[in-house]
Amino acid sequence: MPHHALRKDTHIAILGAGITGITMASKLLDRGFQVTVIDRQRYPAMETSYANGGQLSASNAEVWNSIGTVIKGLKWMLKKDAPLSMNLAPSWHKYSWIAEFLAAIPRHDANTVETARLAQMARGHLMDMASKAGVAFDIETRGILHFYEDAREFEAGRRSTDLLRKAGLDRKELTADGVRAIEPTITADVVGGFFTESDFTGDIHKFTKGLARYLEAQGVKFLMNTSVTRASATLTGVDITASQNGTAQQMSFDGVVVSAGVGSRDLAAQLGDRVNVYPVKGYSITVNMPDESAQDAAPWVSLLDEKAKIVTSRLGKDRLRIAGTAEFSGANYDIRADRIKPLLSWCQHHFPDVPTDNSVPWAGLRPMMPNMMPRLGRGKNPRVFYNTGHGHLGWTLSAATAQIVAADVAEAFEPRPTFSGIGRPSAA
Ligand SMILES: Cc1cc2nc3c(=O)[nH]c(=O)nc-3n(C[C@H](O)[C@H](O)[C@H](O)COP(=O)(O)OP(=O)(O)OC[C@H]3O[C@@H](n4cnc5c(N)ncnc54)[C@H](O)[C@@H]3O)c2cc1C
Repeated sequence: MPHHALRKDTHIAILGAGITGITMASKLLDRGFQVTVIDRQRYPAMETSYANGGQLSASNAEVWNSIGTVIKGLKWMLKKDAPLSMNLAPSWHKYSWIAEFLAAIPRHDANTVETARLAQMARGHLMDMASKAGVAFDIETRGILHFYEDAREFEAGRRSTDLLRKAGLDRKELTADGVRAIEPTITADVVGGFFTESDFTGDIHKFTKGLARYLEAQGVKFLMNTSVTRASATLTGVDITASQNGTAQQMSFDGVVVSAGVGSRDLAAQLGDRVNVYPVKGYSITVNMPDESAQDAAPWVSLLDEKAKIVTSRLGKDRLRIAGTAEFSGANYDIRADRIKPLLSWCQHHFPDVPTDNSVPWAGLRPMMPNMMPRLGRGKNPRVFYNTGHGHLGWTLSAATAQIVAADVAEAFEPRPTFSGIGRPSAA
């Protein structure tokens, strides 16, 4: 009997309808599973997968666990409009996370190479999903350009390029003129840059929502507006208690994949695992540009300003997304005016002919693991799986990690071999 026929009777719940949960649903459906996606929001991609930086960036794969980042971070903590903001109020979760972040410094190089490898693996899977589902998501395949105004930072960038090369990524070094040749709208006093032609950008929300709509038509069940309040697993299945409009319901599944973004830590604890995701807040503005003069003055190539730690993506001709900031203040969704201001000022400084009078502010919580590597595959219980903790690179990595975790799920539910001629399950 083909495996697909057997898997039709195997029902997997996916907790979370962000980019990780929806790509996961796609890959499990491909393998013939019956899939139900559960999310507390009314629509898919309403939390962190809503208005991020838009970059599909293998070139930004370097993990932050380094002495250099720690020193920079300490300096930034003293500056009001810096890319990092830390609420120093006591919190066991935050300080245990920071301790684990520091402990992962020796793995910096290996984890960077592994992340860059995953990012490149993701590209093909993402494009396959988009074309199968017929999703338009304002994709721009013009590469990603890192630019530098500080010679020391530029030198450090060269070391990252060497690491990325180990993962097979071609990131070209550019002179200041080379930077302006690639993106003529840049007026900053740059010392040089790096260009990764194979990187690209797109609208994560459009992609996730479009793919979800397609999957629903293909038979994936969506329970939206449904908050998971309890999850427990036994050796034979998983029980979920969820609340929809105040009414609790009990459901049973054969297995579960946790893709709940910053909600993954709590759910994992209920399922018997420690998944130390911390919510690292970031902000974006989406600058709407109805006028042709603004459209001409805005960059088409996606940028990463190494000094400000700000990224941009052009989402079609009339939208420019600008994103940045890492704020450690717990599960707090407030859009702070003093954190939006540096993004507006950055746009005014670098692209003075792009008016920001029509721009939409947003904040989202990056589900970040202390070692900055996503938590993938099996939990302690054989019915429990994770595809979560993608931090600042969930858009870049999800298509690959969904593929990896779907293979783990398929393997776990593989029919056991039988003794030929006897036809009873193997004792193995
Ligand atoms: C400012 C900013 C810029 C970024 N820029 C980039 C970029 O340029 N490139 C890149 O690759 N990445 C970027 N990222 C990171 C990327 O956006 C995230 O890694 C990704 O969106 C995380 O997806 P997710 O599916 O893990 O989480 P989410 O999208 O948050 O999805 C999790 C879902 O789980 C649901 N959920 C949680 N708990 C429960 C519960 N108990 N019951 C029911 N539902 C629940 C939530 O409602 C949510 O819909 C950026 C992030 C930010 C904040």
